[in-house]
Amino acid sequence: MANPNNVPLLDINRDNAPHQDEFVEALAKVVESGRFLFGPDVVELEREVAGYSQVENAVGCASGSDALLLALMALNIGPGDEVIVPSFTFFASVSCITRLGATPVFVDIRPDTFNVDVDKIAEAITPNTKAIIPVHLFGQCAEIDRICQIACENDIPVVEDAAQAIGAAYHSRPAGSWGAVGCFSFYPTKNLGGMGDGGMMTSYDAAMADRLRLFAGHGMRPRYYHQVVGINSRLDTFQAAVLRVKLRDLPNAVEKRSDIAARYSRLLSDANLVGDDQLTMPHQDPNAFHVWNQFAIRVAGGRRDDLRAHLSERGVGSEIYYPVPMHKQECFQYLKVDGSNLPETEKACAEVLNLPIFPSLTEAEQIQVVDTIANFYAASARMAA
Ligand SMILES: *Cc1c(COP(=O)(O)O)cnc(C)c1O
Repeated sequence: MANPNNVPLLDINRDNAPHQDEFVEALAKVVESGRFLFGPDVVELEREVAGYSQVENAVGCASGSDALLLALMALNIGPGDEVIVPSFTFFASVSCITRLGATPVFVDIRPDTFNVDVDKIAEAITPNTKAIIPVHLFGQCAEIDRICQIACENDIPVVEDAAQAIGAAYHSRPAGSWGAVGCFSFYPTKNLGGMGDGGMMTSYDAAMADRLRLFAGHGMRPRYYHQVVGINSRLDTFQAAVLRVKLRDLPNAVEKRSDIAARYSRLLSDANLVGDDQLTMPHQDPNAFHVWNQFAIRVAGGRRDDLRAHLSERGVGSEIYYPVPMHKQECFQYLKVDGSNLPETEKACAEVLNLPIFPSLTEAEQIQVVDTIANFYAASARMAA
């Protein structure tokens, strides 16, 4: 039986519970319609996500990973091409590059936001650079205005990995509306999470959106005539129906995440746990509207793993996003990347700890998380004394 004192990293059922009737009603309509692919909910969701992200076009696909892959396919990325990307990210930001035979060029992150360091992007550009993939990590936009500026000066398209950042904005302009393509994921743990896999690509450019749709549908147009070698990547109608219910509630869910983040910072600071030798709170870029997909702290002094074990033993969930940078992954060793210019990436992998954050997380649960952290430090202070 679940211990009532346990605090889960994430409780999707609890978040979903208030919408159960709406889900059942929406899904029943899909069953009755018999249109399991290309149903009206897919078209409507594309319109709604485009509206929410203030961009003209949106194209559904099977996952956030496919969204990134399709974006690079539509940009004709292939062997000999270089794509600039952070190494501190989820695998899919990079596998889309290597899968097409292109070469990822890793750039370091800023220590404060964990997002890509724009000055390092400028240094990494070569005549072979064919795309830049900034990742809006943990729900906060990278400095996408400067990134687009540099990209524009060098005539290089930007593909935004906005998998964790639907509804986020920079200078009030939404994630996914800046680059040539914006890529979203509807994986269940994302801020707009489905009940399975799903993804979407956005673009201000109608021709690009058309190309994305072509590649997502086997490059087939008209039927059985294939213009390009695409893939089969569709958002199914069941997912779209569920996602439309959740999208209606997304602004409210983001507000709750934001309140939770503010409360963690307050509670941890009140407990005297914030400081260079203990915990560092997530930094908010004043130009960014953060949607808090993750609450990522740093744990100083090489104590992250001990703190995590302490939390785990006491039923408090936490996670490490991400323990191993992409340039150190086994499958990317053939790239022979020299990690010496990625010190902040490696430091972040050693220090980052993600605390529970989801809209229905209660204040009592947050207090328990903070108390459990506090007694970790109190116990080690006693040991030292
Ligand atoms: C989740 C995620 C993806 C991939 O999305 P899927 O829908 O799981 O394929 C890509 N990039 C980042 C940064 C992610 O967090």
